[in-house]
Amino acid sequence: MTSLPPVPDRVLTGRFEPAQARRYVHIPFDVPDGVDQVHLEIDYNLRASSSLGAPGNTLDVGLFDARGTRAGGAGFRGWSGSERVSITIGREWATPPYLKGPIPPGTWNILLGPYKVVPQGLDYAVRLWFNPGLTPEAAASAPADRPPWGPVPAVAEAGWLRGELHCHSVFSDGDAQPDELLVAARDAGLDFLAVTDHNGWGQFEAATGGRELPVLVPGTEVTTYGGHWNVWGLTRWFDFREPTGAAVDAQMRAAAAQGGLVSVNHPKPMGLGWEYPEARSYHCVEVWNGPWEHLNSFSLAWWEDDLRRGRRIVAVGGSDTHRLRGARQEGIRARWLGQPTTWVDAGPEPSWPKIVDAIRRGRCFISESPTGPELYLRQGAGTVDVRVVGGQGQILAFIGASGCVAAEAVNERDQGVSIPFPAGSPYVRAQLEDAVGRVTALTNPLWIAQGQV
Ligand SMILES: [Zn+2]
Repeated sequence: MTSLPPVPDRVLTGRFEPAQARRYVHIPFDVPDGVDQVHLEIDYNLRASSSLGAPGNTLDVGLFDARGTRAGGAGFRGWSGSERVSITIGREWATPPYLKGPIPPGTWNILLGPYKVVPQGLDYAVRLWFNPGLTPEAAASAPADRPPWGPVPAVAEAGWLRGELHCHSVFSDGDAQPDELLVAARDAGLDFLAVTDHNGWGQFEAATGGRELPVLVPGTEVTTYGGHWNVWGLTRWFDFREPTGAAVDAQMRAAAAQGGLVSVNHPKPMGLGWEYPEARSYHCVEVWNGPWEHLNSFSLAWWEDDLRRGRRIVAVGGSDTHRLRGARQEGIRARWLGQPTTWVDAGPEPSWPKIVDAIRRGRCFISESPTGPELYLRQGAGTVDVRVVGGQGQILAFIGASGCVAAEAVNERDQGVSIPFPAGSPYVRAQLEDAVGRVTALTNPLWIAQGQV
């Protein structure tokens, strides 16, 4: 990277008070003709460290070009949250997640989101350079950590795939390129991977899955101040700027109308929660985010509340991995691709549309890792049948609308368990727990139409 000229071409300054927290503002600036590269340096006082809950100010940053700030529009060039304070965007290259390409002259907008503002206020300065002639920095290339499990056994049932539905690359706040994530996912034993960057959608085009690598599933994590939600199956952005239930629900409906599969992510403590009770237009809930111990029982309860209301919402899992390096030093906070794993009945010749479609139909279960345990739930003649693979020494529970209806110890490596369909419940699902009551796998519900059993 060549160095910046000492004097910027523009300086934009301003201040946010605590009462302005969690509301985005657009700061316009003019880009003259003949510009091929814009560089921004963002400074503000009392900047918080990146660790969760650290005190200090946090300012999120995004960028719209002269094509405008319209929701879903072509003017959106990227959003980097609080991750980057030095951003270059140009015709030839751009700091991820920003999109490189022509620099149209006219009025651009910096999107500033004062996520956290301390009582002293947040004073910012954005310095801008036009055509500074910067070249990209060489990417760090330390090898990724190996997962904490060895080779994975073959999948017990033909047509089922194991995958990861939630992780982050340099297209938001991750430490790896999308193609590095594909390699790491393969090494973890996974067959498909969705790289769901925060308000980013360029990661899908930046890598190619398939052949010897996992199938890459398009996805983005719409990251708002009151909760996060995933969209799979689309490569576009959805408006994240208005943190209200009505706005979030409208964006969810727009994503669904375009064929996207929508999930509420980590509705639990340690995961930001979900502040939009009015936003109900989702297909899935991420009931398992990272290791089970990361308070996932709260997300499970959140999902079960939907089930008891008769809402046929699909449970999915995702590791939310951000770093391929240094996880072993993070102790209880460590995350690994495939922890948990979502197993999907996508049939032969897998493709991302088949994977997304199988999840939409609830043809999936979740396990603690790609090594299992596997839980295949099906309907028999008046019975509910489960095949448990790799669950020996654990307890299989059948759960209906009013709680656990049956339980059985699992003794064999590959064991079938059947129970009569529980009277009075419109659904039943299965869940495996180990000797200390930790969930190691869970299925989606089998729904029984009234009068069918
Ligand atoms: Zn999230």
